[in-house]
Amino acid sequence: MDGAQVGALEREMDARRHLLSPAEEMAKLGSTSRPLLAYGEGIHVVGTNGRRLIDGPAGMWCTQIGYARREIADAMSEQALRLSYNSPWYTVNSPAAELSARIAAMTPGDLDRVFFTTGGSTAVDTALRFTEFFNNVLGRPLKKRIIVRKDGYHGSTSLTAACSGREGNWPNFDIRQDRIAFISSPNMRLAEGRSEAEFLDFLVDEFSSKLAELGPDTVAAFLAEPLQASGGVIIPPTGYHARIKAICEANDIVYISDEVVTAFGRCGEWFASEKVFGVVPDIITFAKGVTSGYVPLGGLAISERLLARVSGDNARGSSFTNGYTYTGHPVSCAAALANIKVIEGEGILEHVRDVSGYFAEALNSLSGLPLVADVRASGLVGCVECLADTERAVAGDLDRRLGARIDAICFDLGLIVRPIGHMCVLSPPLIITRAQIDEMVAILRQGILRAADELA
Ligand code: PLP
Repeated sequence: MDGAQVGALEREMDARRHLLSPAEEMAKLGSTSRPLLAYGEGIHVVGTNGRRLIDGPAGMWCTQIGYARREIADAMSEQALRLSYNSPWYTVNSPAAELSARIAAMTPGDLDRVFFTTGGSTAVDTALRFTEFFNNVLGRPLKKRIIVRKDGYHGSTSLTAACSGREGNWPNFDIRQDRIAFISSPNMRLAEGRSEAEFLDFLVDEFSSKLAELGPDTVAAFLAEPLQASGGVIIPPTGYHARIKAICEANDIVYISDEVVTAFGRCGEWFASEKVFGVVPDIITFAKGVTSGYVPLGGLAISERLLARVSGDNARGSSFTNGYTYTGHPVSCAAALANIKVIEGEGILEHVRDVSGYFAEALNSLSGLPLVADVRASGLVGCVECLADTERAVAGDLDRRLGARIDAICFDLGLIVRPIGHMCVLSPPLIITRAQIDEMVAILRQGILRAADELA
């Protein structure tokens, strides 16, 4: 064994003994080892054992421009040497100021005021805390409820976890909160024979009924991802968001679009809410792709109209006190500005729009395979839903192990898949080429076929 191999082995032991992972199976604490990565390059990551893998999920939906981009490393290093930190309470740094203006120009409508956070969970948490603050300042202490959807995912703070409708994340955490109300996931697979238009009417009626049941004067916000990413790339019926937004507007309910996954090119636009999903929200949250995952950063853009109601002559003595030590961190914001420059310079939004049809077709070519119950795609995010019995709409216990099994087979063949129960999600770095899409989908095909053989 050479020095590098011994070093890698030692790090694996360190991780096994001392790292707590975000999905730790507690019975195996201390005995599971995950592959140790040595480096990343373009759309690939390479393990310390030399294994080269296509990064199918773009890390966690975030490595938009790919790994090892010198432009980002240089921007971060220059900023770290120039001004590594500033106290956001008393001073402003130049990258945060510039980035706020760039993002304000990218967002739809009048979402022109930006607050920076440390990631997606804190972005959504802040958006919800803002609506709380907003209604308190307006003298509406009862207008506090939040309507969310089943299968949504909004983060891992107490509040954002409570807003996430993926019950698999719930056991042993005291997650439920009375002020949070759930409505259906807009998943066509659950339409029970309705057409898309009928299902849309059903979903809109359900929202209206929930509002009537709770009382509009008690509802502060509707929180929704444009497409439900972690729920399995659930794409709502056309017009869904605009119709719900109209009801929100009529009832003075803040519409929060959680674009932590969909922003910064994933759907071929800086922000997907308006251009892809036809809605201008009151607040948009973002994270992940804003720095292509090089360094943590998140944030939210808030409508000026909303802010005007609780600022200036309408402030009623209030201060919006919601501070993070690292809000608008100069190095993170410098990374984001460099990332935006790369996306613009290389025409990456146009590239995503150009290859998204090809990506969808490639995934759809898996439709006839055994196990494949449904295929969904939008921009460069897609999901292959696998069920032992493809006629069923809902997954059983056996199905829920399929994603992990397919992922394990694909891993050996050179592809990381994001398994979510019975679903295999792919959301590759946005720089992926057509040839690489072919390679990625060919491996997934192998993974599905071999998993099906094992079941037979
Ligand atoms: N919102 C959405 C839609 C997400 O998918 C995620 C994470 O996957 C989050 C919020 C939480 O973001 P973070 O993990 O950066 O806290």
